[in-house]
Amino acid sequence: MAEIPSSPDIVVIGAGAAGLGAGRRLTELGASFAVLEASHRVGGRGYTEEVAPGVPFDLGCHWLHSASLNPFVAMADEAGFTYRKGTFDRTLHFAADWTAGTDAKDCEAFFERSHAALEEMQAKGQDAPVAEVVERDSPWTGAFDYWISLNTSVDSDQVSAVDLCNYRDTGEDWPLKDGYGNLIARLAEGLPVALNAAVTEIDSSGKQIRLTTPKGTVTAKAVIVAVSTGILGGGNIRFTPGLPDWKQRAIADLPLGCHNRICLLFDRNVFGNDHPRGTMLLSSEGEPMSFLIRPFGHDYVHAMTGGRFADWLERAGVEASADLAKENLKKAFGSDIAKHVVGHLVTAWRGDPWVKGAYSAARPGRAGQRARLAEAVDGRLFFAGEATSREFFATAHGAYLSGLRAAEEAHGAMNGFARPAQPPV
Ligand SMILES: Cc1cc2nc3c(=O)[nH]c(=O)nc-3n(C[C@H](O)[C@H](O)[C@H](O)COP(=O)(O)OP(=O)(O)OC[C@H]3O[C@@H](n4cnc5c(N)ncnc54)[C@H](O)[C@@H]3O)c2cc1C
Repeated sequence: MAEIPSSPDIVVIGAGAAGLGAGRRLTELGASFAVLEASHRVGGRGYTEEVAPGVPFDLGCHWLHSASLNPFVAMADEAGFTYRKGTFDRTLHFAADWTAGTDAKDCEAFFERSHAALEEMQAKGQDAPVAEVVERDSPWTGAFDYWISLNTSVDSDQVSAVDLCNYRDTGEDWPLKDGYGNLIARLAEGLPVALNAAVTEIDSSGKQIRLTTPKGTVTAKAVIVAVSTGILGGGNIRFTPGLPDWKQRAIADLPLGCHNRICLLFDRNVFGNDHPRGTMLLSSEGEPMSFLIRPFGHDYVHAMTGGRFADWLERAGVEASADLAKENLKKAFGSDIAKHVVGHLVTAWRGDPWVKGAYSAARPGRAGQRARLAEAVDGRLFFAGEATSREFFATAHGAYLSGLRAAEEAHGAMNGFARPAQPPV
């Protein structure tokens, strides 16, 4: 990483995909800037760990969503990263049996009907919680609700139908073998990023903006705030003067839900060679759970939880999470497989002190707040991050593109090219 300038013109707060995107654009524009990152690492919600030698596992983002519109695809190509082109795999294991033929078609038809109902509501200019739009008495309602909880990180009664429809989905979701977190971390190469530098106050009451960090005070002419709404709403950063009411409302209307991953490591391939690649387990006794079986041929299984249940399980702890995943897998693949589990890794995004959740979901009736969250305050405080993206929120590329946008706004404002209008309070 490059040296930190002592008095940069622009400070970027947060070195996730958004902050690093801003840094890349500011470099291209020739701006003087520094990125301040609270954690000991870059990447934020993009984070890859090796669960075994040569086996990367994404704790946060993993799929290149809307791939044909996703700038990370070209970056992956340039870096020589491997990904698999395709869509989500969703073989169903329902009521203790693998579904085939008519059942699977029934389920797909229900998903399509539900999406059509949501789009119809959006076309009418109305909004409601997703749960109020989708049939409640179908055998597939639970599967759809679970799917919503993975996509939005909240439950279907908590998220705006319009927000869901605003997402620009091309149907291409390509998993990255070498780790999305590893790809995002590469964005930091050559950038002036200070780690362990949590900003605790942004004082814009004077001519210079003063930022308080454990490493001392930094001054700047403009600031790009690229942290999650969990952090903005959680009072971690004190704004002096306080943020205007319209901005605080936007933050509150775009809260983070919860989404966690459970990785179970196996000592061998216990699934055989013609196992389903991805499966969703549905049962009358418990919450649904999805699994990716042996992604890219690695001997692990990757389970996913979302919404209130993910929050509850995170509080129950790592061992409880791994046990539940194991019990669920046994229902589908037989109890013998549990003997071959040799380790696990479980995420806890709600408890992450620098994120406080998974990704933003607009409250019903509040989808328009993403545009407000993106607006500058006082022509000097600029906002980036996945929650500010109107069409690619809740994704890594949405965060990255928002960083490019905020960098151009901040640079433009400083050079008198444009001064973003102050919205009405
Ligand atoms: C489990 C999970 C699965 C996901 N799956 C996918 C997926 O498959 N595909 C996809 O595209 N997206 C996925 N996402 C979403 C994607 O990871 C995020 O939308 C994106 O990474 C957010 O980037 P960001 O820069 O907006 O925020 P963040 O990544 O949260 O970055 C903000 C940075 O700010 C830092 N920070 C916080 N407070 C301070 C402070 N006070 N001072 C300085 N720095 C601070 C944080 O440490 C962090 O590094 C997933 C997320 C999760 C949690």
